[in-house]
Amino acid sequence: MSRLILQIYSKALYSTWIYYAPERILFDAGEGVSLTMSNKIYAIKYIFLTHGHIDHISGLWTIVNTRNNSMGDREKPLIVYYPRGNTAVEEWLDFIKKANDDLRFDLIAQPISTQEKIFLRQAGGFSRYIVPFKVKHTVQDFSLGYNVIETRRRLKQEYKDFSQEEISRLSKKLGSDQITEVYEKKILTVSGDTFGIDPNDAKDSEILLHECTFLKTSDRKMNAHASLEEVIEIASQANVQKLILYHISSRYSGKIDRYLRNIKETISFQINYVDPEVVFTL
Ligand SMILES: [Zn+2]
Ligand SMILES: [Zn+2]
Repeated sequence: MSRLILQIYSKALYSTWIYYAPERILFDAGEGVSLTMSNKIYAIKYIFLTHGHIDHISGLWTIVNTRNNSMGDREKPLIVYYPRGNTAVEEWLDFIKKANDDLRFDLIAQPISTQEKIFLRQAGGFSRYIVPFKVKHTVQDFSLGYNVIETRRRLKQEYKDFSQEEISRLSKKLGSDQITEVYEKKILTVSGDTFGIDPNDAKDSEILLHECTFLKTSDRKMNAHASLEEVIEIASQANVQKLILYHISSRYSGKIDRYLRNIKETISFQINYVDPEVVFTL
C-alpha cells in the first residue's frame, strides 16, 4: 500500500477538512473531522484555517476536547493558524479555551498574513514552509489560500544545453553548488473557499486543491465560490500536475463524472474530485 498523502472530506455548506499527511497539517476543521480521522487526530501538528465560516471550523472544539481527554500524549501543543483579523475565528477559539479551561496542552492561536513564511521543516539544504495568499470569498470574512513550498536545486539556465559529460566535468571543477540554483517548488496549493484564484498563486504546483462549489456556472447566484469551467482554466494556466476539486455542492453528488467526461480529453493535467458524500484519500 502506498503512503497516504491526503485525506479529505468536503461537502459545500456542511463540512470541509483536508489532512495533509506528509506534514501532519489539517487545513480547515469542519464537522466530523475527529469522528472520521479517529485516533489520527493526535498526529495533527498544525491546523491552518482558511476562513471563519462554520463549515470550516465547527470541528475544532471536538479536536481540542478529544486530545485533552485522550490516554495518549497530552503535552504536544496545537497551533492554529488563521487569517489575521478574522474575528469569527478569534471568538470561536476564545470560546473553546474558556470551555476547556483545564487544557493540558498549549492551544496556540496564531494569526497570519499573506506572504508570511511559516516553516514546517528545515534540515540541511531541505526546507518546507507554508505561504498564505489572499483569495476572493466574502467581504465579511477575511480568507486565505495556502501553498506548501519546498526549496529544491536545479541546473542553472546557462548550462541547460550542456551534455551530461560536460555537466559532470563542470561539477567536479566548480562544485555542484556553482552550477545549480535554488528554486521554490509548490508541492500543494489549497484554495480555500473562493471565487477562482489567481493562476499565479498556483503556478507549477504539483497538486492544486481548488474549491468547485458549482459544476454549472449558471447555478451560482453570488460570486463567492468557483465553478468548474473557471477552475479548469485556472489549473491550465497555472500548469499544475494534478487538480483535485473539492467543496462541491451535494446537488451534484453521483453526477460528477458526467460533468468531467468531456473535459478530461482537453486537459494536460490529472483531475480528481472529492465526492460530497465520500471521504477521499490519495
Ligand atoms: Zn465553505
Ligand atoms: Zn466559506
